[in-house]
Amino acid sequence: MSSEQPASPVSPADFIRQRITADRAAGRHGGAVVTRFPPEPNGYLHIGHAKSICLNFGVAEEFGGRCFLRFDDTNPLREDETFVQAIREDVAWLGFDWGDRLTHASDYFERLHACAVELIRRGLAYVDHLSAEQIREYRGTLTAPGRESPYRARSVEENLELFERMRRGEFAEGECVLRARIDMASGNINLRDPTLYRIRKVAHQRTGEAWCIYPMYDFAHTLSDAFEGITHSLCTLEFEDHRPLYDWLLDQLDLPHRPQQIEFSRLNLAFTVTSKRKLSQLVERGIVAGWDDPRMPTLAGMRRRGYPPEAVREFIRRVGVTKKENTIEMGALESAVREHLNVHAERRLAVQRPLKIVLENWPDGQTETVSLPNHPADPARGSREVIFGRELYIEADDFMEDPPRKFHRLKPGGEVRLRGAFIIRCDEMIRDETGQVVELRCSYDPETRSGASGADRKVKGTIHWVHAASAIPVELRLYDRLFSAADPDGQGDYLAALNPESLVTLTGALGEPALAALGPGETVQLERAGYFTRDAASATGVLVLNRTVTLRDSWARLEAAAR
Ligand code: ATP
Ligand code: MG
Repeated sequence: MSSEQPASPVSPADFIRQRITADRAAGRHGGAVVTRFPPEPNGYLHIGHAKSICLNFGVAEEFGGRCFLRFDDTNPLREDETFVQAIREDVAWLGFDWGDRLTHASDYFERLHACAVELIRRGLAYVDHLSAEQIREYRGTLTAPGRESPYRARSVEENLELFERMRRGEFAEGECVLRARIDMASGNINLRDPTLYRIRKVAHQRTGEAWCIYPMYDFAHTLSDAFEGITHSLCTLEFEDHRPLYDWLLDQLDLPHRPQQIEFSRLNLAFTVTSKRKLSQLVERGIVAGWDDPRMPTLAGMRRRGYPPEAVREFIRRVGVTKKENTIEMGALESAVREHLNVHAERRLAVQRPLKIVLENWPDGQTETVSLPNHPADPARGSREVIFGRELYIEADDFMEDPPRKFHRLKPGGEVRLRGAFIIRCDEMIRDETGQVVELRCSYDPETRSGASGADRKVKGTIHWVHAASAIPVELRLYDRLFSAADPDGQGDYLAALNPESLVTLTGALGEPALAALGPGETVQLERAGYFTRDAASATGVLVLNRTVTLRDSWARLEAAAR
């Protein structure tokens, strides 16, 4: 190793990092590390992609290398520029910088075409006029070898001419394709003369009408890797069977670089789906409000929900990189989010379902301020003054007329401390015509002001509150898991596993005035209620807070109870 090479990586050495370290020690690729993240712009990125992004950009950073963000835009039918934009935003949000290495497979259409012509010249590719169905039939199966196409023996000249005519648009879609000439009897179906080019008479979002033939993924991807000088082409396990084709292409052509493909297992997350097809179905059918709906496992959805990118990266770091297929608990992602927010989010008070209380021994028209710390463990974050007075709201759930024995909140004749303020006692209940309790008449004990000397009288419960006249209305969107089954695909129809309570909207909630200053996308802990993030997409005027995550993992308890 030369002395300029950076120090060892900080992440735990998984098998990929170990291999890169060994490659560098052996002087392969001149010690360089160049990776790429190659999304197809046919949907938004999801939590599974985060694993690939963190791995590719992460190893490049750790080894002093480079990582490309390359759009695999070879299928103009399904792709769209809005997805390109969204993907760029998401990768940047996760905290990675592609610098000047933003590329598209379509940047290489001319070069890819030249490589295809070169393969034809070398007798390694031919234009096949079998139909798609016949090609499938001729391909054989895992147990039966394939059969050679009658067009396989065409001469180099004939193939060159036919391929040129394909490019000029002289054939209809599906009339013919360009195939590699490899081995129809290969035990690996990917080597049974795979298709390299097909005709698609549709405009491409970047190259417009310039092409009517488009390269297939394996061909475009392998050669793009070689053009960009990728050293380690990291991809998911389903491409393991494609590696012989990857290597075959690199063997046959004179290319500037020789990348190596290394496979790792996909990230699967319980209680959600990560297939782009299914995610786009949820959007198209209006089951969610869009790709960035806070319940979606997309990076855009997680951002809108208030998941900090640091927490997503930490979750991915904990998951690690292996070759073993497994499914990670949703709780693991949620606790990474919770841990980060517990340290970073300031505290605020809001009541979700308000119940009015009147302190009858508090002088009418008089108010005081109480000081509440912004963070219980970090005095440096200061405190804020909150108005306190005769009429307040508490959480309806914090009062029970006829509570069980261990209920330490408010009950008739009982006492409770109001957070940061006084101990109060419930003296009387006011009911509406239906008999429901709609208001409480209480009294406060002036000797019990929090923090004051002599405030040492103890009660078991402390509850939160807001001051009636100064509180501001907030809309709370209580998001929960989108699916109520750990394996939504397990029952066959994943739509049947949707959680009917994945969103509960509370329009009557009230928050302390400081919440008005919360910026879009900013997160606080509403004490005792959970972490909430100001919605970045809602109209101004209404203060919409998205529940990012609850304070505790209630699903873990439900699951434990069910076992
Ligand atoms: P599809 O190909 O069906 O549209 P995809 O999820 O493979 O879906 P791509 O845009 O091709 O989408 O993915 C870009 C990169 O992200 C690929 O290298 C792929 O291997 C990787 N990737 C996709 N899903 C996961 C996952 N669940 N875990 C880890 N990496 C993933
Ligand atoms: Mg893919």
